[in-house]
Amino acid sequence: MTTFKSLGLNPALLSAVEKLGFEAPTEVQEKVIPILLQQNTDLVALAQTGTGKTAAFGFPMLQKIDSSQRTTQGLILSPTRELCLQITNEMGNYGGHLKNINIVAIYGGANISEQAKKIKRGAQIVVATPGRLKDMIRRKLVDISAIEYCVLDEADEMLNMGFYEDIKSILTHTPKEKNSWLFSATMPQEVNTIAKKFMHDPIEITVGTKNSGAKNVNHQYFIVGARERYNTLRAVIGMNPDIFGCVFCRTKIETQKVAEKLIHDGYKAAAIHGDLSQNQRDAVMQSFRKKKIQLLIATDVAARGIDVEDITHVINYQLPDEIETYTHRSGRTGRAGKLGTSILFVTKSDRRKIKLVENKLQTKLTELEIPSPKEVFQFKIEHWVEQLKTTPIKSDLNPYLGGVLKNLEAFSKEELVELFLSKEFQSFDFNAKPLEFKKEGASERHSERTINAAKDKDRFFINVGARDQYEWQTLKDFLRSFLKLDQDDVFQVEVMKNFSFFSTHNKHRDLVLKSFDGLVLDERKVNVELTKKGKTYSPKKHFKKGKKKKRSHF
Ligand code: AMP
Repeated sequence: MTTFKSLGLNPALLSAVEKLGFEAPTEVQEKVIPILLQQNTDLVALAQTGTGKTAAFGFPMLQKIDSSQRTTQGLILSPTRELCLQITNEMGNYGGHLKNINIVAIYGGANISEQAKKIKRGAQIVVATPGRLKDMIRRKLVDISAIEYCVLDEADEMLNMGFYEDIKSILTHTPKEKNSWLFSATMPQEVNTIAKKFMHDPIEITVGTKNSGAKNVNHQYFIVGARERYNTLRAVIGMNPDIFGCVFCRTKIETQKVAEKLIHDGYKAAAIHGDLSQNQRDAVMQSFRKKKIQLLIATDVAARGIDVEDITHVINYQLPDEIETYTHRSGRTGRAGKLGTSILFVTKSDRRKIKLVENKLQTKLTELEIPSPKEVFQFKIEHWVEQLKTTPIKSDLNPYLGGVLKNLEAFSKEELVELFLSKEFQSFDFNAKPLEFKKEGASERHSERTINAAKDKDRFFINVGARDQYEWQTLKDFLRSFLKLDQDDVFQVEVMKNFSFFSTHNKHRDLVLKSFDGLVLDERKVNVELTKKGKTYSPKKHFKKGKKKKRSHF
């Protein structure tokens, strides 16, 4: 068996390996570490996240750096703040036994002078996102003119995110004779171009098959009608009670809607998308990582750089536009030797695209039948019974057992089981048509439509908006909790810069109008008014109206 020692790591790094409990090098480490330690070369490695690639470039960089010098010798570029922090953390762990090593992360959305101060103390290794690094170079807050090693991590993601020009500009500030090490999960044309343009005879390493999804991932798909996606998702969750999954949607709005429906239906879910602030995104990710959230509903952009272990399922709520994106999505499961499942929801008209995915991945996708509500229910009962059989007995209940037994002695065993099942599964709708598990499953849109048709909807103006740091979903959450209304009771929330609109059923009219009476937010009186009945919403009209109102209200 290959060991880290046989790859040529020095004792300080070997101590770190031991402390971290790494038993053997991963494939990418086995292939990359000896090359980078022994040769001064450029390198292109095709490897997904989760393969141990950070250590593959991290150990050689740490070993080659002269820690007695305070100049910046190593630069690692990463697409997102999340990944940047992760790499810095990992590098800190790997270099924990080295003396005087200073590794500094620089990324957008955080205090630039704090980061500059850390760099000034002397950072031999800088881990950076391209935008912030470019900014700091321009302001002369960081000097990368003497670096010897430059890593482009997740190069395909960086290019996807439009960092080509930034990377090009950053590289002009680095010495020609440095070694560049490029890591990428896929090898689209753009990455090839970067490799050709900025690297000299790079050694190429491939881990697993080129452009393929992780080997440990089982790829499956359902043919769904346009309106069947949500219920198919619920069926998948129903058949996989221990799911810890990521659901990918195309739009921010869809992400939010799916998450809201899942929460409403009792699942631990949350959405992550570009409309959330960095802090909100961090909070969601932390909950997901700690498994307080079972299902993360994400857009591709928001999910970039997310590296969470143990994801059991990736669900493609819609087919992504690019097949490369499917590879990225599915690569988030099936890591560290574990098995994962990637599921695609495909409409009949998109069926032919399955072949394209299969060709790209060079693997077969399995078509699954959407389980009927009865099948899901049968499975749920069996699962529940299995769990029941292995529930640890609580001895604290012993004193109460006699009384309960006496109380139930008139019931036969069958009757008792019937009672338990009825209590446990009382919310299941046995008369549901296929794919209608519950009335709520028929979606918020349905209830909205009913309200619209009956013209019993009220639309309100409120004088808070984006300048008060509200986005539609945060305002909706605030209104729901402030008015103590349910999930579906506040809808069609539209946030403008200085004001917003929302709708409720007209039975809540008095509650809405009275509740805000006297409420002051940031020394400003909160004002809520009913908009003109029957008028459809037109941003232009309301903008004028809002302007007038603003004068009278403040
Ligand atoms: P990466 O692909 O660099 O994001 O690494 C994924 C995870 O695998 C990280 O949590 C690493 O700490 C861990 N890891 C890296 N190398 C090894 C190894 N040789 N054995 C076990 N775990 C490892």
